Amino acid sequence: MGNKIPQATAKRLPLYYRFLTNLHHQGKTRVSSKELSDAVKVDSATIRRDFSYFGALGKKGYGYNVDYLLEFFKETLAEHKVTEVALIGVGNLGTALLNYNFSRNHNTKLAMAFDRSTKKAETFIGGVPIYHIDQLEEQIGNVEVAILTVPAAAAQDIADRLVSNGVKGILNFTPARLTIPDHVRIHHIDLSIELQSFVYFLKHYPL
Ligand code: ATP
Repeated sequence: MGNKIPQATAKRLPLYYRFLTNLHHQGKTRVSSKELSDAVKVDSATIRRDFSYFGALGKKGYGYNVDYLLEFFKETLAEHKVTEVALIGVGNLGTALLNYNFSRNHNTKLAMAFDRSTKKAETFIGGVPIYHIDQLEEQIGNVEVAILTVPAAAAQDIADRLVSNGVKGILNFTPARLTIPDHVRIHHIDLSIELQSFVYFLKHYPL
């Protein structure tokens, strides 16, 4: 739902939304693309294209229905809310990921990290607070996505705890094959296997 909207269009939504909210408060029920264009400084052809993704086709001489657009934006913007992510295992890979700026292009934010090392707990890396793993249940709150960068041997136990605490998606960087319930999505990223198969392809399938 809503994920067919191009990113450039999605970025303009808050702009449209703010302006349309103002119009709504002024009691206006319709707006032309020219009016919108002047207000938000986006050319009207782009506005028309953007709005066509929402199924809002302006009528000649009428413009767009303000309430219809507002309703649509409310739903869509909620979908584009930032998704908070927790990272478990602040080793070499975990540290690199914490320092990586995920939020630049995506609606995701590393909100917290956990490690069993007491030295790492109570510190920050890349602005992300690190807690001791014993505090997982206490701190995780409503976070529904987790990145696993613990050693393979610890992965299943941590995954079980994440799932019991409401996590719905796990990005598994460990080589461990995890058993998780059907309602939880898991994606595996094994960098050493990627590298190995890449080298294999280079050798056996020369360009
Ligand atoms: P990598 O480069 O794969 O991140 P590393 O060599 O830095 O690994 P690992 O031994 O793989 O370190 O451990 C990764 C991190 O996971 C370490 O910081 C370690 O303290 C942490 N860790 C290990 N076991 C657990 C666990 N049960 N719960 C939480 N953190 C753990």
